Amino acid sequence: MTKETKAGSTKTWRPQTLMVRGGTTRSQYGETSEALYLNSGFVYDSPEQQSARMAGDEPGYIYSRYANPTVRMFEERLAQLEGAEDCRATASGMAAIHTMLVAPIKPGDRIVAPRQLFSSCVWILKNVMPKMGVDVTWVDGSDLADWERAMAKPCRFSIIETPSNPLLDAVDIRAVADLTHAAGGELIVDNVFASPILQKPLALGADWVVYSTTKHMDGQGRTLGGAILGKTQKIVDDIQQYYRHTGPSMSPFNAWVVLKGLETMDLRVRRMSDNARQIADRLATNNKITAVRYPGRSDHPHHNIHASQMEGGGSMLSISVKGGLEAAYAALNKLNLIDISNNLGDSKSLITHPATTTHRTLTEDERAAIGLDNTWLRLSVGLEDPEDIAEDLEQALG
Ligand SMILES: *Cc1c(COP(=O)(O)O)cnc(C)c1O
Repeated sequence: MTKETKAGSTKTWRPQTLMVRGGTTRSQYGETSEALYLNSGFVYDSPEQQSARMAGDEPGYIYSRYANPTVRMFEERLAQLEGAEDCRATASGMAAIHTMLVAPIKPGDRIVAPRQLFSSCVWILKNVMPKMGVDVTWVDGSDLADWERAMAKPCRFSIIETPSNPLLDAVDIRAVADLTHAAGGELIVDNVFASPILQKPLALGADWVVYSTTKHMDGQGRTLGGAILGKTQKIVDDIQQYYRHTGPSMSPFNAWVVLKGLETMDLRVRRMSDNARQIADRLATNNKITAVRYPGRSDHPHHNIHASQMEGGGSMLSISVKGGLEAAYAALNKLNLIDISNNLGDSKSLITHPATTTHRTLTEDERAAIGLDNTWLRLSVGLEDPEDIAEDLEQALG
């Protein structure tokens, strides 16, 4: 059997300590690093014990689709870091968002969402929700008057992303939380771009936080994963049964990778954010570029909101290249260091042309509504020397 180490003492630890030690349980062997319990099932001492455990009358593991010790260590560590009561880890970020939206929803419910959302999330809202008899109202995420109009009717959930993909728009978390609560709903924040290091939505009034752990938590491009964080009772009432019986659970191997990823996440995210800041400032004076969008720069149209709810500017920036699609593609083709990829939050700097890749499935009008045209490139700044990253961009643009 495993035992909790120093149980109860975790509450007083500071974030960097929680990231290294939070949630750790050790087996009878006393291993230093967290063990990888790569098993699907569990055995019991007796049929009485099995029956009691399956009835929920006795604590303990049953089956890794429900819970697994390595996955549990990750869930507890992330919950402590986020300041959430509990967490459920999932096989991908989209499994988290799908479970979060579908498990609690009922026909006749309404969801309010900004157009500036991750494209697979838009797909669920457009294609899955109507089939379930759920109405979706779309707003401009950064326009509070639009939110107020949308919240004149009851709403079950609002779901936001801030900074958003790909133009790093800000949504005022506290204001949208208040409006959502007044309409009888709960606010879900997809906090992937900021990461738990730079932004804490629950402290700003959000009810739920969802992650793709594929991004900054893994941070080295190895595993897919996701997480749902919220109040224990809410998870039990709204999420748990659906999660157990439909199988979106995270694999123990992936949980072990991201559990170890959390130990270095603070260092990585802060360094990537510093690098991104330097690169954004340097590109702002480049005459091949018409605009730089970086949440940490005062020329970002939503800088004040970002500054009020997010620490630093994060690892993502977008640039608008003079000469449109042709010039943007030409620059991508000349890069020597930065990789062309739709992933983000990685130690390797990655760049993509959103209008023809990640946002390809949106209609022209939908892209226009979020201000995305063919001139934009989205850069995820990694851990390389920022001089090398900047020089690669400058030679590619020149
Ligand atoms: C990547 C991402 C997702 C989806 O996560 P997966 O792990 O790829 O399923 C959701 N939201 C945002 C903001 C993302 O960047």
